[in-house]
Amino acid sequence: MQVYYDRDADVSLIKKKKIAVIGYGSQGHAHALNLRDSGATDVCVALREDSASIKKAEGEGLKVMTSAEAAKWADVVMVLSPDEGQAQLYNEHLKDNLKQGAALAFAHGLSVHFRLIEPREDLDVFMVAPKGPGHTVRSEYARGAGVPVLLAVAQDASGNAHDIGLAYASAIGGGRAGIIGTTFREECETDLFGEQSVLCGGLTSLIKAGFETLVEAGYAPEMAYFECVHEVKLIVDLIYEGGIANMRYSVSNTAEYGDYVSGPRVVDESVKARMKEVLDDIQSGRFVRDWMTECAAGQPSFKAERRIAAEHGIEEVGAKLRGMMPWIAENALVDKSKN
Ligand code: NAD
Ligand code: MG
Repeated sequence: MQVYYDRDADVSLIKKKKIAVIGYGSQGHAHALNLRDSGATDVCVALREDSASIKKAEGEGLKVMTSAEAAKWADVVMVLSPDEGQAQLYNEHLKDNLKQGAALAFAHGLSVHFRLIEPREDLDVFMVAPKGPGHTVRSEYARGAGVPVLLAVAQDASGNAHDIGLAYASAIGGGRAGIIGTTFREECETDLFGEQSVLCGGLTSLIKAGFETLVEAGYAPEMAYFECVHEVKLIVDLIYEGGIANMRYSVSNTAEYGDYVSGPRVVDESVKARMKEVLDDIQSGRFVRDWMTECAAGQPSFKAERRIAAEHGIEEVGAKLRGMMPWIAENALVDKSKN
């Protein structure tokens, strides 16, 4: 594995360039502000004319343009609008407006790897994908640290795409934590698998099953919430800090023994066969095809699932506890700037 740090990057390669960041959501605000604070003098944010984020970006002193204007102006265009709309954005606003030899950049490999976007041949195409939420990319940078990022090049028209990408990654703070070389395919498929099986899908399903088991057995929902939701962060923090052994060292011997005897009963070997099915659907392109079909239809089942999830008892109990004990939310990473 190739890992780069700030000392390996020539940040002047990016500081001199006109950089357009498309979108000012989770990743967009972090990239734009970190680039500017790293000394890039020509950073603009591209948004739709009716976007509520225009005020926020201008409030930070950033120039705002439309995507078409930004594409004509910029040397580097970082696409940080939602994945499901990137192909339309590229076809309608970028393809015919990007300068000859400009760089087109992404924070996720999906659009390029699954060929939803086929970039013009004269463009450099690279990816700088932070391995963390945008709000952490900004807060870590602001305290002098950084979030690790993945760097990949899909198209190297100038012969310089890697070095420009490395400079970009360093300027958003990635070089303080580690810039890891990869490919669009590897980033995209592992990212989709991780969020579906472990991080988002796997974890929320595990949490819900635990919460429901306790509540259905007659225990107080507040107790179930503390056990199965709240404490997850404390346990994960220990694993993050020093691995699984570090967590097991910190919990009681009773908890550690319970981990060994009951963990594999709950998540047994058969889970891997189902995870493999999830991975197969990602690799074959089926997952992305289904998601894009869902988006083209106006996201009916996605929105229905979101409503059902919001009505789950777990959310009600969580809201009540955060109201009673505001400190619960104070330490949490909540994305309050999303529009
Ligand atoms: P987001 O939903 O938080 O923000 C999207 C932004 O794009 C908003 O400001 C929205 O107003 C704007 N936007 C939407 N459509 C637009 C259009 N047609 N033209 C211009 N602007 C438009 O998105 P996000 O979660 O920051 O994701 C952006 C990219 O970063 C995606 O490729 C995603 O996979 C990647 N990524 C996200 C995270 C994360 O922490 N959220 C982590 C790693 C990579
Ligand atoms: Mg991810």
